[in-house]
This record gives sequence, structure tokens and C-alpha cells, in this order.
Amino acid sequence: MPRKLGQHFLVRDSILERLASAACRDHTPRVIEIGPGRGALTRHLLPRTDELHAIELDAALAQHLQSKFAAEPKLRVHHADVLATDLAQWGPAVVTGNLPYYITSPILEKFLALDARFPLAVFLMQREVADRLLAQPGTRAYGYLTVASRLVCDAQLVLHVPAAAFAPPPKVDSAAVQFIRKPEIPPSLPHLLAFLRRCFAQKRKTLRNNLRPFYGPMVDALPEAPLRAEQLTLYQFIALHAKLAAHRNL
Ligand code: SAM
Repeated sequence: MPRKLGQHFLVRDSILERLASAACRDHTPRVIEIGPGRGALTRHLLPRTDELHAIELDAALAQHLQSKFAAEPKLRVHHADVLATDLAQWGPAVVTGNLPYYITSPILEKFLALDARFPLAVFLMQREVADRLLAQPGTRAYGYLTVASRLVCDAQLVLHVPAAAFAPPPKVDSAAVQFIRKPEIPPSLPHLLAFLRRCFAQKRKTLRNNLRPFYGPMVDALPEAPLRAEQLTLYQFIALHAKLAAHRNL
């Protein structure tokens, strides 16, 4: 099997079981699995759901799955690129997968952009990205991705997965993260995300230097001006954005 499309297959049943039970905490009517590969996780998800949509880009693997699970009416295999797939088309669902690492961020963004019908996701990803998602303010790993995802979801670690749990082993360690969508999402989310990008534009610079080009000298008067973005909590970002938006009508 060529090592393309982030194809590293999980071979430890205990880990697959932990992933499936984190995704399907109770019986789950519908699940979407991203990158089912040869169906290792699929096999653990099927007993926990009534309907499983598995999206696989590799034609040979999609065909392999169709034949392997031909007697399983709950499984629908979609030979498609997840990034070009409308995940909302089948209705409410839990989303999960041992992700192709080369597109972890766009998959995450796609999940975050869904709505309350998609309350939960569990993704296995490279450990470095998981560390960023779970980081606390004031640490190096804390950045745009941390705060952007925290506006929409609470994230928690499910488990760390060593490279040896995959065949072939990836070059990096991995971690599974569970995302629980928050009941209240700020209505100004797109503006907030744009604001966060500005705050984190140059991580080593102060907020004064990152924000002055957009908001002008009023930034100098802010108590947060000498701080760096990585020092602010989610709620401080929301408050700062509201303060600036009130002045600029954003
Ligand atoms: N779930 C399997 C497992 O745990 O053994 C395979 C996981 S492997 C890390 C990632 C899978 O995603 C591969 O089967 C790969 O072909 C598939 N894939 C890669 N890019 C994709 C894309 N854009 N859309 C859907 N599937 C993709």
C-alpha cells in the first residue's frame, strides 16, 4: 500500500474501541466517519449506530469497504473527498475518524462550521495539533486554532496514541480529541474569527503592533495593548473584540 493520502492504519483494537466509545457515548442514530480506510474503526462504530456514512477518497479502499461490509445494511460508503462533501446532507450526526493528517485543519474547520445538529466529534490527529487545541493561555502551543475552536467547542483529550499503533507507523505521535459543541455560539462568530487572525498575525508581536494597522491609535489606550495574543483567555478576546467593535461599528 503506497503511503499516500495520509494512509496509516490503526491496528490496536483497544485504541479503536476507545475511539468508538468516545464518539458514540450512548447509542447514536447516525455517524459520519472520515477516512475509513480498510474499516478498522468502522467495525467498532457499526454496533453503536443505526446508520454510518463512511467517506473515503481512495477508490480502491472505498471498493474494498463495499465488498468487506456488503452484508451490512447500516453502512453507506461514499467514494468522495471529505472537503468537497456536504456533511449536513444526511441530517444530524456525530462525526469521527482517524484523520488523514495532511488535512486535519480544514477538516476541523469544516466540523466547527456545522451547527447544533452536529453536537460531537472525535478525531484522531497528530499530537502537535491536539496539543494546540488543548493548550492553555501563556503557553507556546496556544494560538489561533486553540481560541477559534474554543469559541465553538469544548475540547478534551481522549487518549495519546503512539506511532507503533499504526501500520505503517507515521513519523509523529498522535492523540484523539473529543469536541463537544457549545450550546451558545457568539452571533458575531465570523467577525470574531477575523479579529483572532489579526491578533495572532505575528505571534511574537504585541497586540498593539498586530492591531494598530486595523484599528489605528485607539489601540494604544487599551490595557491589553502591551500583551501578546497568547496571553489572553477566550473571554478576554471576546471582550476586547466587543470594545473595538463598539468604536468601529464592526
Ligand atoms: N480509519 C482507518 C484506520 O484507522 O485504520 C484509516 C485512517 S488513515 C489515517 C486516513 C484515511 O483517510 C485513508 O484511508 C485515506 O485514504 C483517507 N483520505 C485521505 N484523504 C481523504 C479525503 N480528502 N477525503 C476522504 N478520505 C480521505
